[in-house]
Order: sequence, then C-alpha cells, then structure tokens
Amino acid sequence: MKLVLIGAPGSGKGTQGERLARRSGAHHIATGDLLRAEVQARSALGNQVAGYLESGTLVPDQLLLDLTMPLIEAARDTGYILDGFPRSVGQAVRLDELSGTGSAVESVLYIDVPRAELVARLMRRAAEQDRVDDNEDVIVNRLRVFDSETIPLIDYYRRRSLLQVIDGGLGVAEVGALLAAAIGQ
Ligand code: AMP
Repeated sequence: MKLVLIGAPGSGKGTQGERLARRSGAHHIATGDLLRAEVQARSALGNQVAGYLESGTLVPDQLLLDLTMPLIEAARDTGYILDGFPRSVGQAVRLDELSGTGSAVESVLYIDVPRAELVARLMRRAAEQDRVDDNEDVIVNRLRVFDSETIPLIDYYRRRSLLQVIDGGLGVAEVGALLAAAIGQ
C-alpha cells in the first residue's frame, strides 16, 4: 500500500494515519512529527526548520525531500502511509520524479472536515497541548497555507483519479472505518 493522507490542520490525519498503519502494517511517515522531533533534538535540520514550524509556514521543499525520500525508499516493500507529505503540487511532482520506476502513490484519501469544526478542534487542542503552532494567529496561517498550497494538490490527485474524499466530521472510530473501507482494509 502506497497511500497519501491529506487533511487540514485539525482534521485528525495524524491519529488516523497511526491507526491505519497499525491495521495495515504499512510504515507511517508523518512529516510534522519528524520535523518536531528534529526541533526538539536541536539537530542542524531542527534549527533550520524551527521558525517555519512556529509560524505555520511550509518548510522549503528540498529539506522535506532530503528528510522523507530515504524513508520512502526504505518502506517501498512494506508500504507506507504518507501523512503531511506531499503538501503541495510541487512536492507531489518531485516525489514522482524522484521515485523512479513504479508509482510512488497508489491511493490518496482526503479527510474533509468543515472549516468551523477545524477551528473549534484546533482551539481546543491549543488549550490542551503544548504545541507552538497551536495559537490563534498560527492556526489562521496554517489554514491559509492549506488553502493556497494543499487544496490545489487535492485537485491534482483528483485529476489523476487517485483521490477519495472521506467525511472527517464524524468521530475517530467512524472516520477510521470509512478510511479502512476506502482502501479495502
Ligand atoms: P503537521 O503536524 O502535519 O500539521 O505539520 C506541522 C508543520 O510542519 C507544518 O505547519 C509545516 O511547517 C511543517 N511541515 C510538515 N509537513 C510539511 C511538508 N510536507 N512541507 C513543508 N512543511 C511541512
């Protein structure tokens, strides 16, 4: 299984990515988690990307590709769930170019959640967790980046007939069941 999960901040894609990975045995590659771990470890990459994460802006493509391509290559046989990458048409094109023979993406699931629900969830998470990018200004910016960069990516995969849209406004278990059914798990 070579799957891309797309969802706005607050859509639950991280939670669902983990669940799908457990169920399918595919490798969960979550770029936001990987980048936060680098920042926390104060690695060279972490220091380079910290400002982008804090402001909710996309990290430059080349840094993302350097981080993710080796992981994607390593998971070629077990399969993978890409969570948070690609996040723009440019990244999707580069992913295909760098993947050589065979398609890097077999299926794309977009977890669609109404905007008002996303904002409510993100504000709740801001109150509960200690994520630097969960405050009101950054939330607005992350949603703006989603609209400008990631919505075109949804159209890109729809045109390639790879996209399925999943109703993400339901509970965790219900959305999980819809996602699993969509990929025949
Ligand atoms: P997430 O946890 O997926 O919401 O990602 C948190 C932050 O990591 C984003 O706001 C970006 O700053 C950065 N990030 C994650 N994935 C990518 C990506 N594919 N391209 C660029 N930046 C990314």
